[in-house]
Amino acid sequence: MNCPVCQTRTLATHSLDQDLASWRCDSCQGQWINSFQFSKWIEQHRFGHRVEGPVQTFELASNETKSAKVCPECSRIMTKFKVGNSLPFSLDRCGNCGGIWFDKNEWEMLQGSNLRDEIHLIFSAAWQHRVRHEEQVRHLEELFKERVGEADFAEIKRIREWLKKHPHRQELYGYLNNPEF
Ligand SMILES: [Zn+2]
Ligand SMILES: [Zn+2]
Repeated sequence: MNCPVCQTRTLATHSLDQDLASWRCDSCQGQWINSFQFSKWIEQHRFGHRVEGPVQTFELASNETKSAKVCPECSRIMTKFKVGNSLPFSLDRCGNCGGIWFDKNEWEMLQGSNLRDEIHLIFSAAWQHRVRHEEQVRHLEELFKERVGEADFAEIKRIREWLKKHPHRQELYGYLNNPEF
């Protein structure tokens, strides 16, 4: 089985996690998980120990490229699924055999963000819909920031956060919106 990134390199058996066998590329350090292995691992984890804890920020970066990858098992073009949740990369999954490709550090970053037990949900329509919505909101916010300028944007954000937590927020909003004052 060849690496979908380096193409000529052969993947070697490895383990991504306890009870999760993978195939790893020595050159780009990406890892492939077979669909059956992954489903088995998800089932074990869903009913077993769940990793909970504070979300860590990682100094890691994925070496993902924008180009489409070909499935190392069945040679079909894989689909990219954006992860969202402030993680700036996508996972590649084969729609035919269900295998998943993790570029270097992607597994570690999912683990650090407590998303490891939810990886299977990333491929759902609901998850992808939410990621697109988050992107649209961020885009609108960027446009607004450009229009009002960096300093005013920071100020209005500060005021909004203060208002949100204020016990008299309704009256304060009313005051702002009342043209009589
Ligand atoms: Zn490789
Ligand atoms: Zn496949």
